[in-house]
Amino acid sequence: MPELPEVEVVRRGLQHSVLGRTVGAADVRESRLRWPVPRELPQTLAGRTLRSVERRGKYLLLGFDHGVLIVHLGMSGSLRFLSRPPPPSRHDHVDLPFEHGTLRYHDPRRFGAMLWHDAARGPVLEHPLLAGLGVEPLSSDFDGEMLYRATRGRRVSIKQALLSGEIVVGVGNIYASESLFRAGIRPGTPAHRVGRERCERLAAAIRATLSDAIARGGSSLRDFVASDGASGYFQLDCYVYGRAGQACRVCGEPVRTLRQAQRSTFYCPRCQH
Ligand SMILES: [Zn+2]
Repeated sequence: MPELPEVEVVRRGLQHSVLGRTVGAADVRESRLRWPVPRELPQTLAGRTLRSVERRGKYLLLGFDHGVLIVHLGMSGSLRFLSRPPPPSRHDHVDLPFEHGTLRYHDPRRFGAMLWHDAARGPVLEHPLLAGLGVEPLSSDFDGEMLYRATRGRRVSIKQALLSGEIVVGVGNIYASESLFRAGIRPGTPAHRVGRERCERLAAAIRATLSDAIARGGSSLRDFVASDGASGYFQLDCYVYGRAGQACRVCGEPVRTLRQAQRSTFYCPRCQH
């Protein structure tokens, strides 16, 4: 599933490839995504110039003078700019043509979304899908003090509190496991028991983990823009994620795994308390 760093790299790729360009007639071959792609999307976008490419959580916000195209990649979606697009294959559901190539939405499982928010309806951040999101982990609104205040009274595990998206957006399973390792905190610790100092460490670890992943993805930006390579997680050098039974990279103790709310969690019993 594309996570926040992947979506951020897609955003940067779009800035590079299509920002300031004008869209032609969109080709919607399959409108049944998580919600229907609006029937009138081709007429809405034809002849319009892309003015901005923003991100809120895992939503990409493609800004035009008269509104915003909201795109979510769901479980298996990808959005690629192809300067010489091959004929569409089975899961290539939407093409947005530009004069110098095509932006193609591909999504085998169709849990993604492509929705139009008209400027007349007000700021896009007040859209029902976006209004309730937690803070951006890489913004100045997110720090240890904020995390500390937001976790008081929460009895769920700290990992669940991160995954819920209610406090901070975009910290998926892999990044939650890695951040908790870097901060030295056991994933099962009740959120309200994580003190101020540990919240500071955890907030810093979350920012560092996500920034590292973005930097790694960013280094393959040219590939992303040009290629038809597979999407998915960047090749991270994980400390614990996916490494059950292998030696902890810091202390050598075997990494352990457990299930939390149907998700696999990985941790080092010696480094994390
Ligand atoms: Zn260790």
